Amino acid sequence: MAKPTLAVHKFSSCDGCQLALLNMGPDLLALAEQLEIKHFAEAGIVNESAPVDIALVEGSVVTAADETRIREVRANSRYLISMGACATSGGIQALKNLAEDPSAWVGQLYPQTEFIDSLDRSHALKAYVRVDFELWGCPVNSRQVVAAAGQLLQGVSPVDNREKLCLECKRAGQVCTLVTRGEPCMGPVTRAGCGALCPAFGRACYGCYGEAELSNGDALQRRLEGLGLAPERAAARFRLIHPDQQQQDPLQLSGGDHDPA
Ligand code: SF4
Ligand code: SF4
Repeated sequence: MAKPTLAVHKFSSCDGCQLALLNMGPDLLALAEQLEIKHFAEAGIVNESAPVDIALVEGSVVTAADETRIREVRANSRYLISMGACATSGGIQALKNLAEDPSAWVGQLYPQTEFIDSLDRSHALKAYVRVDFELWGCPVNSRQVVAAAGQLLQGVSPVDNREKLCLECKRAGQVCTLVTRGEPCMGPVTRAGCGALCPAFGRACYGCYGEAELSNGDALQRRLEGLGLAPERAAARFRLIHPDQQQQDPLQLSGGDHDPA
């Protein structure tokens, strides 16, 4: 029986999520035995227009060419998974969405702006095409990527864990950096999934997994201000990685057709 097929596509991004996959090492080899990898340029496999069962897509849409290409990826994919903060919410590059004049920043960064071919805004993939499942994180947790791909192929909706990071942190037995060291930890409003990686090293979570369900941002904002952060700096911590975050649609398993959005 033919193996299910997989493609890994890159849009505007730092490649960190693809590296998270490559860093799986032996687990990636095990995955390659179950799936036929048709396109994964960073791993040296190139066939960008191959039709596949699952497309893992890293990065946001920032050029007109990106917009055309993501529609092609969608049309060639049975299931499309947005992989990481850039693809799922626009990422750090969506900070430009906060500018009143979206073109002003270009002149501040580049001496010759005529060579810059960029849309005014950076948006998540779901602004352009239907996304079957969203994976958060900067970078993603590779175990979540493999689990989501496997569950989609089995015809079940992947588990969308929106609980707060604090729960994962407590279950791991970490000492709370917010309570014991006064670090401005975003765990109380951030979704779980990373294994409380930053708190495990005594660092404050900076919210790369996006907003958790039923989060109380006002209470955390007051707590951060109580730690001495100026109100605008406390507010900025909510926008650092996900400045363009929109409320996520309820999880829908599309049924896996090949239609473009
Ligand atoms: S989500 Fe983070 S790690 Fe992944 S590509 Fe974007 S910036 Fe890099
Ligand atoms: S360290 Fe952060 S994530 Fe962990 S319990 Fe404290 S506030 Fe929550």
